Amino acid sequence: MSSEEIEVALNYLKNNVIRDQKKIEELLPLTSEVVRVSRIHKRTKSKKLIRYQIVIISGNSEAGVFGLGIGKNEEYRLAVKEGISRSKKTLKIVKRGCGNRECFCKTKDHSIPEIKKAKIGSTVVELIPGALKLGLRTSPVGKKFLNLAGVKDLMVVTRGNKNNKLNILKAIHEAI
Ligand SMILES: [Zn+2]
Repeated sequence: MSSEEIEVALNYLKNNVIRDQKKIEELLPLTSEVVRVSRIHKRTKSKKLIRYQIVIISGNSEAGVFGLGIGKNEEYRLAVKEGISRSKKTLKIVKRGCGNRECFCKTKDHSIPEIKKAKIGSTVVELIPGALKLGLRTSPVGKKFLNLAGVKDLMVVTRGNKNNKLNILKAIHEAI
């Protein structure tokens, strides 16, 4: 994408609280990925049911736009479809920068401008700007998510409930 195309897409996202999904995808190619699949077993009187809960991330790393969605359905395919659609409705523009005082980069766009924090449930996440070439210091799923966000050097510190992987992703999305 050219920088003009990115600017047009970002302006559309900034200026429209109610967004037209088709329009967004015309302006901005989005990548989506399944990052987590849970099977929830449900027993009714007559039969056992399996319900899928799928976590999807979507975004465009060049533009620095990312979203997170959950799809639930008895059919895997439909749960994925719902998750993709929801993740695209939560697209957030990442403010990139470099808030690492020891970093001597010139571009100032490889990380985030300052330390950010968010709490979801009992999970607390802190995002700390990393120096150039530090990479992403987080779980493999966290890395995928931050890659989509277009952030390259960042340390994610998790406190409280560290086992709730979904809340960690939600907190990263909220904090950034
Ligand atoms: Zn830097």
